[in-house]
Amino acid sequence: MRFDILTIFPEFFGSLPSPGIDAQGILGHGIVSRALRTGIASVAVHDLRSFTHDRHRTVDDRPFGGGEGMVLKPQPIHEALESLALTPKPNRDPTRESVILLSAQGKRFTQSTARHLATLDRIVLLCGRYEGVDERVSQLFCDDELSIGDYVLSGGELGAAIILDATVRLLPGALGHADSSRYESFGEGDPSPSVSNDTIATSRQVPRSTNSSNGILDYPHYTRPADFLGLPIPDVLGNGDHLAIRRWRRHAALAKTLANRPDLLTAADLSDDDREYLSTLGYIQP
Ligand code: SAH
Repeated sequence: MRFDILTIFPEFFGSLPSPGIDAQGILGHGIVSRALRTGIASVAVHDLRSFTHDRHRTVDDRPFGGGEGMVLKPQPIHEALESLALTPKPNRDPTRESVILLSAQGKRFTQSTARHLATLDRIVLLCGRYEGVDERVSQLFCDDELSIGDYVLSGGELGAAIILDATVRLLPGALGHADSSRYESFGEGDPSPSVSNDTIATSRQVPRSTNSSNGILDYPHYTRPADFLGLPIPDVLGNGDHLAIRRWRRHAALAKTLANRPDLLTAADLSDDDREYLSTLGYIQP
């Protein structure tokens, strides 16, 4: 998969290590950097100022109609996009390419958006600054406007970094274990928990996955030491009873979801055992 990022702050994204220079930023660290090194993904960062023609390399201008702040001009963005040789918007194949404007006014970016993006060949992320980007850029060139959450950032770069990270880690081969992204918070989980429950005759309706997903949060994780500052790990995790561990993890994930994100429970794929457990925690099905 190829990413192109358009920004007025190209250094923001960092780079892989090169002779004499340490790895920097998102491109230089962790799963993203490994995906770049192994060729699972490639990222090109483009400086919008390179597509200006005046002495001051001006990328912004005052808003028509008056009001606060400055607006990113359409012309440098147009030329930057032209340089990428994308399919023009009307003929673009939405299953292969997507030009995305980062915007507080965009559709909310979620794990399911990331799963969709991970199926494409090519993604362009356009980072706004100031009051935003001339609206015609979105109309003429962008397939989507995405917001990373209900707050206003000073630029689209953090949003682009988030979309890049969340998408790259879903690409086949990016994570060590293929199931890692399936059974995590907001993961797809098993196709149907009721079917997988049936396949474990002795499991008393514990889902097959060792953890949560199916619309709920991940379960809590522990590592050594077994006693930390007087706080022991839950007994069940040390006793080798894998069925009991699965069941405990599922319950702990449900409890965490109820405490931190009760909104997720209404849409979650819950088994009878899940519901029974939640009711012991005082959860009343809406
Ligand atoms: N005037 C705009 C905010 C502009 S902030 C408004 O009120 O909606 C400047 C830039 O930061 C935006 O163009 C966008 O690219 C980026 N940005 C700000 N908040 C964002 C968010 N929640 N998600 C994605 N990008 C965001």
